[in-house]
Amino acid sequence: MHQFNTISEIRTWRKSHKHLVFVPTMGSLHAGHCQLVREAKKYADKVIVSIFVNPTQFGINEDFSTYPRTETQDCELLTAEGCDAVFLPNTEMIYGPNFQTSVRVSQVSQNYCGASRAGHFDGVATVVCKLFNIIQPDVAVFGLKDFQQFAVIEAMTRDLHLPIEVIGVPTVRELDGLAMSSRNFYLNEKEREIAPHFYRILQKARENLATKTIANVEKKAILELTNVGFVVDYFSVVRRFDLKLATENDGDLIILAAVKLGKTRLIDNL
Ligand code: AMP
Repeated sequence: MHQFNTISEIRTWRKSHKHLVFVPTMGSLHAGHCQLVREAKKYADKVIVSIFVNPTQFGINEDFSTYPRTETQDCELLTAEGCDAVFLPNTEMIYGPNFQTSVRVSQVSQNYCGASRAGHFDGVATVVCKLFNIIQPDVAVFGLKDFQQFAVIEAMTRDLHLPIEVIGVPTVRELDGLAMSSRNFYLNEKEREIAPHFYRILQKARENLATKTIANVEKKAILELTNVGFVVDYFSVVRRFDLKLATENDGDLIILAAVKLGKTRLIDNL
């Protein structure tokens, strides 16, 4: 596997490959990321992964400084997955001293994680746009676990006419249902036991949508989550295509939710 640290190395390598698939990550890789690489391989013969903990998508009181950084293990994992190249830029390279341009996807960024984490999706859209321009992939692969992020990237790619096909991969879960996440490493033993209730309550809410009103489904789920020890950030039934709050007449729905367990923030959807 090639390891690239500079933009010029990437540009040179890019020229000799016609069809390229790109998987952006922040590292601390787990089976969810590996699944993205496996899916990516179906779309082209060359797969490149980036590992960059992007400072602009973290708020001032968030976990940028403590976010797990496991570069050596990550590269071993990617080599074992048959990934062709990894891009490991540093912050100075991505955000030079005069950096002053950002990308904002106004509508789908607004609510849910966008409301709780001011500026988060501007940071995400900007860094992904930059990485798209550096790597110039034909296809880019993202996890549907971060569904709002996926919607932001889809909208940005469409609105800016970027010639990139954006693919979403279903969430990879632990055996007990907990969505895999680099932030699961923060959970202590007791919190880890509670954590699977998040997915269980999402599943129950989905069932309840068949017989109860949306407002009642949300209320019941929030109560259940609170009772088992989560602090609920949001639990919202929304329209899948534009992430607006669903009404009883809407059909194609997705439940988006974020909770806190101790200091750890978890997100999931169904
Ligand atoms: P991250 O390193 O957390 O920024 O995630 C990098 C990519 O992996 C994003 O597209 C995520 O949506 C995706 N991802 C993270 N966790 C999972 C998971 N459990 N299943 C599928 N994709 C995931």
